[in-house]
Amino acid sequence: MRTLGLIGGMTWHSTVDYYRLINAGVQERLGGSHSADLLLLSIDFKPVEDMQGRGDWAGMGKLMGEWARRLEAAGAEGLVICTNTMHRLADDVLAAVRIPLIHIADATAGAVTKKGLATVGLLGTRYTMELDFYRGRLEKAHGLKVLIPEEPGRTAINDIIYRELSHGIIREESRQVYAAVIRELERRGAQGVILGCTEIPLLIKAADSPIPVFDTTALHAAAAVEFALAG
Ligand code: GLU
Repeated sequence: MRTLGLIGGMTWHSTVDYYRLINAGVQERLGGSHSADLLLLSIDFKPVEDMQGRGDWAGMGKLMGEWARRLEAAGAEGLVICTNTMHRLADDVLAAVRIPLIHIADATAGAVTKKGLATVGLLGTRYTMELDFYRGRLEKAHGLKVLIPEEPGRTAINDIIYRELSHGIIREESRQVYAAVIRELERRGAQGVILGCTEIPLLIKAADSPIPVFDTTALHAAAAVEFALAG
């Protein structure tokens, strides 16, 4: 089994799920008392959130590179960045190490394509919805058509992530906001919706959506298990 290196803590509420899902996946595949061989680097999210707010992607790229190097030096054979948003810095991570990165957008696109869908809605932080690093990869590398919410729904989706889900706060009113935005995406042609922030699955389940949901935390964890067991 290959050793995974997880860059976590962004936020710890979803990193807990990564840890559980990867171990459960390995146990399911290998049976008995098997569990994952992994290293978890769980960082303090507050300075990262502040840097995001300032738009200091260069500073965050340096940090991500350092964290990746620490995991590689400790023996990691493949990296898992436990957040969609910070994949904006995937190239900085890859430039810092010699080990591969298991990309969350590739794991997600694989599941969408397998289901035979071509047009999907994307929910996530403002960075994930608006910048090109995620949508562009889904569209150019995987041939999907990606829809993002109109305003004011887009801002509401972002704010609920940073003010509530990232603090472990789950509110029924916010679930209704998300459900309404998903219905808007469906009306515009979305055949499925990507829960493109690793905390959204804490709030939204398949039953809350009229179209299939793609849980990026679970799909990414499953891809990590595949990688670990392939070696
Ligand atoms: N976990 C979130 C994501 O998947 C947001 C936190 C962050 O900004 O990294 O995008």
